[in-house]
Amino acid sequence: MDRTELLGMDLEELCGVAESLGEKKFRGKQLYHQLYRRQNLCLDTMTDVSRRFRTLLAERATLYLPAIRQVQCSEDGTVKYLLELDDGARVESVYLPEEERTTLCLSTQVGCAMHCAFCATGAGGFVRDLSAGEILAQYLVISREHGLLNQSINIVFMGMGEPLLNVEAVLKAFAILTDPSGCALSRRKITLSTCGIRSGMARLAQTAVRPKLAVSLNASSAEQRRRLMPCERQYPLAELLADCRRFPLRKGERITFEYILIRDVNDQPADARRLVRLLREIRCKINLIAYNECPGLPFRSPTGDTILAFQNVLVEAGYSAFIRKSRGPDIQAACGQLTTRPAEVPGL
Ligand code: SF4
Repeated sequence: MDRTELLGMDLEELCGVAESLGEKKFRGKQLYHQLYRRQNLCLDTMTDVSRRFRTLLAERATLYLPAIRQVQCSEDGTVKYLLELDDGARVESVYLPEEERTTLCLSTQVGCAMHCAFCATGAGGFVRDLSAGEILAQYLVISREHGLLNQSINIVFMGMGEPLLNVEAVLKAFAILTDPSGCALSRRKITLSTCGIRSGMARLAQTAVRPKLAVSLNASSAEQRRRLMPCERQYPLAELLADCRRFPLRKGERITFEYILIRDVNDQPADARRLVRLLREIRCKINLIAYNECPGLPFRSPTGDTILAFQNVLVEAGYSAFIRKSRGPDIQAACGQLTTRPAEVPGL
C-alpha cells in the first residue's frame, strides 16, 4: 500500500488524515503546527501529538526531506544546494545572505521547458513539476542549515523552472509559507518570476493570496525576445505587456521587470529607449542584471559602463531602475546558471 506524504499537505488535508485514522480533527492542526510553524519533521519529538496518532502516522505516512547532495559556498556568502528528491530527480536552491536581508531562491520544476537561449537550466530541458511539498522542502532544508526559523526572509521563485507552468503547486506552497499558523513568512516578501505564461498570469490575477509578480523580459522588441526566449512565439510581447497593464496590483505594489543585459545583444542605449516606450503606463520597477557567463553558452557579460548608461536612460525617463548585484557567479549560482548536474569539485 502506498504511504501518504505529509509534507506539502495543508491544514484541511492534515485534519482529513487525522480523521481517516480515527483521531479528532484537532490532531491534524497539531501536526500542521509541528511541521510548518515549528519546522519539526521528526514524529518522535512531536510530543504534543498523541503517541497513538504518531504510531499510526509512522506506519502509514512519510515525511520526506530531500537529501543534500552537494553544497557550494561562494566567496560572497552565497550557498548553492543540490538537492535530491525521493525519485532521484535533482534541483538546485540558493541561499543569499546580505547585510539587511536574507533571500532564498527556490526551484519550481526539475529542469525547464522554456529553453531561454541564455539559461543553463533551459539547455537541460524539462523533467517534471515539483509538488507543493517539494517546493516547501527546499525552504525547510535551507532554513534548518542556516537557522532561519522565525526569521524574516525573502523568497523568490526564480530557481529552476517556470513557476506559472506549475502554478497550483506554487500557490499551495505559497499559502503554507505565508499562513501565520504555518511558516508565517510575509506575503510581501515572496516574489514569483515568470517569462509570461498568460493562463498562469490570469490565475494569479484572480487569486487574493498570491506572491508579487516579476516578469522576465530581457528584450526591447518582439524580434529580439524571440531570439532569446522561444516562449515569445506562444506568448507575444505585446500581449504580455497588455496583461501587465491589466494586472490587478494592490496599493503600492509594482510589477518588477527583470532585464538580463547581454553584451551586444540587448544592452545598447537604443534598447533602453525602446524599453521606456514599451513599459509606458505600467506601474513597475526594472531590475537590471548583468548576464553571468555560463560554460557552453555563447553570450557575454556587459561592461560596467554599458550597464550604467542603460540605467541612466531608464532613470531619466522616470523609471525606478536598479542594478542587481550578481550573487554567487563563482559557484554558478547566479541567475540562469542553475542546473541539475553536480559541479566537478575535486574530491567529490
Ligand atoms: S530563464 Fe527561467 S524560464 Fe528561461 S529557461 Fe531558464 S529557468 Fe526556464
